[in-house]
Order: sequence, then C-alpha cells, then structure tokens
Amino acid sequence: MKIGCPKEIKPQEFRVGMTPGAVHEAVAHGHSVMVETNAGTGSGFSDADYLAAGAQIVGTAEELFAKSEMIVKVKEPQAVERVRLREGQLLFTYLHLAPDPEQTADLLKSGVTAIAYETVTDARGGLPLLAPMSEVAGRLAPQVGAWTLQKANGGRGVLLGGVPGVAPARVVVLGGGVVGTHAARVAAGMGADVTVLDRSILRLRYLDDTFGGLFKNGYASAAATAELVRDADMVIGAVLIPGAAAPKLVTRAQLSTMKPGAAIVDVAIDQGGCFETSHATTHQDPIYTVDGILHYCVANMPGAVARTSTQALGNATLPFLLALADKGWKKACADDPHLMNGLNTHAGKLTYEAVGTALGLPT
Ligand code: NAD
Repeated sequence: MKIGCPKEIKPQEFRVGMTPGAVHEAVAHGHSVMVETNAGTGSGFSDADYLAAGAQIVGTAEELFAKSEMIVKVKEPQAVERVRLREGQLLFTYLHLAPDPEQTADLLKSGVTAIAYETVTDARGGLPLLAPMSEVAGRLAPQVGAWTLQKANGGRGVLLGGVPGVAPARVVVLGGGVVGTHAARVAAGMGADVTVLDRSILRLRYLDDTFGGLFKNGYASAAATAELVRDADMVIGAVLIPGAAAPKLVTRAQLSTMKPGAAIVDVAIDQGGCFETSHATTHQDPIYTVDGILHYCVANMPGAVARTSTQALGNATLPFLLALADKGWKKACADDPHLMNGLNTHAGKLTYEAVGTALGLPT
C-alpha cells in the first residue's frame, strides 16, 4: 500500500503520525511510505532519519495526499487538508467528530474511509490509542505542577519532595484512571505526599493492591474532596465520565479555603475541566490565578513533550497501521472488531453511532 505521512499543520502541533521506526516496519512489510519534508522536525526526526528508514521525502502536502492510498496523521485534518481527501482513500488519525459538525460534513463529502484513533477499543474495554496520551499528560502533570509552585510563577514556593527535616508537598489527584495513576506515581516518585480520590471502588481496589505503599487512596465523596483540597499544595484534576463534560468537583468558593499559592493542574480541561474556575490555556501562557490559587489548564499537554508523545502514539498505532496496510481496511476491520470500532466514516456515510447521536445525523 502507498502510505503517506504529512506534516501536521494545526497550530502548535509538533507531533507526527509515523516515526522512522514505524516507516522501517511498514517498508519491511512491503509498503511504500511517503513523508512530507520536515514532517518530523518538531519531534526531533529529520528527513535523513526517514530516508534511512526507507521513506521517500515528498516536497508538498498536495503531492503526498494525491499519491497516498492511506494517510497517517495525528490531529484531525484541517479544512485545507480535507479538500484533498477522496473516496477510496483511508485516513487514520485522531478525529473527535462529535463536537465538530464542519469536519464531519467535509469528511462525508470527500467519501474518505476514516478510522479515528480515539474510538478504537481493546479487549479490556480501554481505548488503546488514547491511553498513551493520558500516560504522557499524567506523568507531565506533577512536573508542570512543581514548576507552577515555584515562587517566580507566583506559587507557594514549596518543593514537591521537601528535604530532610521539611515535610513534602501534599498532592491530591482527583480521578485514579490512566492520567491519575501516572500522575500519582510520578508525584510520589518526586517525594510528595500523594492521595488519589476516585468514585470507582474497583479502581480504588486496584490502586490499593498495586500502589498501596507508594500513595494513599480514598473514595471521592464531596466531604473528603473538600477536606483534602483544603490542605493540598497541588491538586491534579484527572476525572473522566466517558462521553460527558467533566464534573465540577471543586467550586470557586472552595478556592478561598485553600492555601494561598497552591497549584491546580486541570488535566481534564479538554472535557471542560473539573474545577469551576478552570478555563483552557496554552503552552505559551499556561498559568493564571484566581483568588490566589494558580491554575495550569493546558488542553494539549502532550504537545509539550512532542518527541515522547510521538513515540508513545507511534508504538500504539503501529500494529493497527500494519494490519490496515497489509490486509486493506475491510479485511483488517472484519478480523478485529476493536479496529472496526474506529471506523467513523466510509464512502459518504457516518458509521459511528455516538457521533451521529451527538450531531443529529443518521448512521
Ligand atoms: P480514565 O477513564 O482512565 O480515568 C478517569 C477516572 O475518573 C476513572 O477512574 C473514574 O472512575 C474517575 N471518576 C469519574 N468521575 C469521578 C468523580 N466524580 N470523582 C472522582 N473520580 C471520578 O480517563 P483518563 O485517560 O485518565 O483521562 C482523564 C482526563 O484527562 C480526561 O478528561 C482526558 O480527556 C484528559 N486528558 C487530557 C489531556 C491534556 O492534554 N489536557 C491529555 C490526556 C487526557
């Protein structure tokens, strides 16, 4: 199959759909891979790296889209990219169509067969192509939170791990899923005193069995949340109710009970955030203050560590990418119902029910 990997054009997107390692494997499977010039620069991969892996470097996105049977990307195609898609072509990328009627209409008009990373499932009920980015955001959260707490940023001036004779910072993680578990592990590894709150007893059992000695866990009742948030130096928001906006677990009134200069890192901001006072920020201007409490609410945290994120995403997408290229999408999806769950559009038809429900379109 002719596979094409264009340079991402969404502002501030530094990831790329295929690493040189992925190109190498696709070429070894007998496929040809075109990579747009400088596609990997933001992730630290040069054209020379891709050439060495067996790719052809293509000068323009127009040429790449025109010649490719499958396009592998990271972000949803932008308007200028959507007009280049066509029936019979396969698109494999994050799409997030439910809140995006314009993109949905364009993909349907193009006739492209689009497989969305975010709706591919696994045997344990997870989302294997979303999980790597949650892992990255989770592990990054204590790192940015520790920086936010520094005095120069207006923070409390508390070192996460303390020092001998000085107590460590108290970190509370709201939600003990993928983001929360990785955040708690890193915060505990930095020496902080960490408590994870969740409402799933099953999840709390898992956290207790696996990490019992490393960090504490608790049931996320309103009272327990209020008490722990009051005493925290850092609160990390990591809750998710699939398909819904994040629940607001901390109100504005509660901020006045917190320690001045404490830090909130609201990773759940891409679902609206779990603090009443959260609004999305950017890597350029990540922090703002409300009632003396610092808020870090960057909606695309993995972009800060584009190289790690590209590699993590590439590891997760590779088996699916190879199945699609080796067998063609029909056979690959017929063989793997989890990959079939990724199919969002085909030949002008919407094929993913939840997107249809959200947009009021037939599927
Ligand atoms: P997940 O499903 O693995 O975990 C969510 C957890 O929240 C679950 O354990 C669930 O039981 C718990 N939960 C739900 N309601 C709760 C409540 N009221 N109180 C306490 N816990 C509750 O999800 P995840 O992959 O960890 O993602 C968490 C959030 O982070 C999502 O909104 C996701 O979109 C977001 N995210 C953001 C970025 C970013 O760059 N900002 C990157 C990756 C993920």
